[in-house]
Amino acid sequence: MFVYADNAATTKMSRAAVEAMLPYLDEAYGNPSSLHTAGQRASAAVQSARNTVAELLHADPKEIIFTSGGSEADNQAILSAAALGAKHGKKHLISTAFEHHAVLHTLRKLEKDGYEVTLLPVHENGIVTAEEVAAAIRDDTCLVSVMFANNEIGSIQPIGEIGAVCRKRGVLFHTDAVQAVGHVPIDVQALQVDLLSLSAHKFHGPKGVGVLYARRGVLLTSLIEGGAQERGKRAGTENVPGIVSAAAALRESCDHMAETSARLIRLGNKLIDGLRTVPHAALNGDAVQRLPGNVNFCFEGIEGESLLLLLDQRGIEASSGSACTSGALDPSHVLLAIGRPHEVAHGSLRLSLSRYTTEEEVDYMLSEIPPVVEYLREMSPVWKDMERGVKPHLL
Ligand SMILES: *Cc1c(COP(=O)(O)O)cnc(C)c1O
Repeated sequence: MFVYADNAATTKMSRAAVEAMLPYLDEAYGNPSSLHTAGQRASAAVQSARNTVAELLHADPKEIIFTSGGSEADNQAILSAAALGAKHGKKHLISTAFEHHAVLHTLRKLEKDGYEVTLLPVHENGIVTAEEVAAAIRDDTCLVSVMFANNEIGSIQPIGEIGAVCRKRGVLFHTDAVQAVGHVPIDVQALQVDLLSLSAHKFHGPKGVGVLYARRGVLLTSLIEGGAQERGKRAGTENVPGIVSAAAALRESCDHMAETSARLIRLGNKLIDGLRTVPHAALNGDAVQRLPGNVNFCFEGIEGESLLLLLDQRGIEASSGSACTSGALDPSHVLLAIGRPHEVAHGSLRLSLSRYTTEEEVDYMLSEIPPVVEYLREMSPVWKDMERGVKPHLL
C-alpha cells in the first residue's frame, strides 16, 4: 500500500487544476501586457483568476497581488509594513516564535536593519491569545504578524480576535494563511486582516504561485523592479498558467470545504486516537483548534528521521516537521516553542491528510506506525536507559 501523508509540505494537483492550466501552456501563450488578441486573452484569464480569488477571500480584486508563492507574499507583506512604519518612526514588529521561516527570517533581516522585533511565546497547545498580542503592542508598533494555522502542529490561531485588537490600536495585521486557505473558511473583512499570504500548492494547485492580499490603502513595497504588472507592485510577466490553475484549485477546494473538513476531522481523530495508545507518545498542538487532517505526535526515545525512513520503506510518506538545515538536524523550532524538550522534539512525526486520503490508508498507517516505533525503541540505547530508570521518561 502507498500513502501520501505529507500534504502540509505540498499537495497533489487536482485534475481541475491541471486542466485549467493546459490551454495556457499550449495555444493561449500570449503575454498579458500585449495589446493584440492573444495578449488580451491571457490578460482576461489573469483578471478572471483575480476575481475568483478575491470573491473567495471576500476581498476586492484590486487587493489581490499574484506572487511566486507563500514565501514571497510573506516577505512582501512584512517588508511593506516595515517601510510604512519607518516613515512614521515606528520600527517595532510583533510576531510569534513558531512562524514559518519565510516570516521569521524576514523579521531577522529587519532586526539587522535597526527594527525591533517581539516574538510572542506560544502556549503548550500551540496557540497565542489576542490578549497577549494586545499587551505587546507599543506606540511604535507598525505590524503584528501571526500565522493562521501552524504548518507543523496545525493549531489554528484566534485570527478574528487578534484582527480586532490590531484594528482598534491602529496597527497593521498580517497573517500567513498558507496552511489555512482552501481548508478553513476565510473572510478578510470579518477577520479584520490587512495583509494575508497564501500559496496554491497547499490546496491542490501548482507550485510557484501565491497571493498577497493587501487591504485597500495599505501601500505595498515592490520586491522586484521592472514592468508595471500587478498594479506596479510585482514586476515580471505573469505566470498565466499557474495563476489560472491556482484560482481553479481554490474554487474547487472552497466548493468541497464543508464535506472535506468533516471527513478529515473524522479521519484525523481516528489517527490521533489510535496513536495515543502508543506508550510515551503525545499529540502536539491543540486537540480541537487544529487543521482538519493534521496529526503531529512526539514519540519519546526515537529519532523522527529513522521513523520516516522505515515508514517510507513501508510506503508511508510523512514528515518529522523538523527542519533539516545545512545537513545538521536541528529539532523543530515549532516543537521547542510549545515547550517540548530537545530530546522529545527529535522524535516527532507529522501526518497531514488531504481530500484524497482514504479510510483504508488511515487504517494502514495505524497498523504500521506503532510496531515501527516499538522496533526503533528496542534498538535505542536512550530508550533502554529510560526503561531501566537511568533516565526519566518525559512524556
Ligand atoms: C508552505 C508554507 C509557506 C511557503 O509557501 P511557498 O509557496 O512554498 O513559498 C509559508 N508559510 C507556511 C505556513 C507554509 O506552510
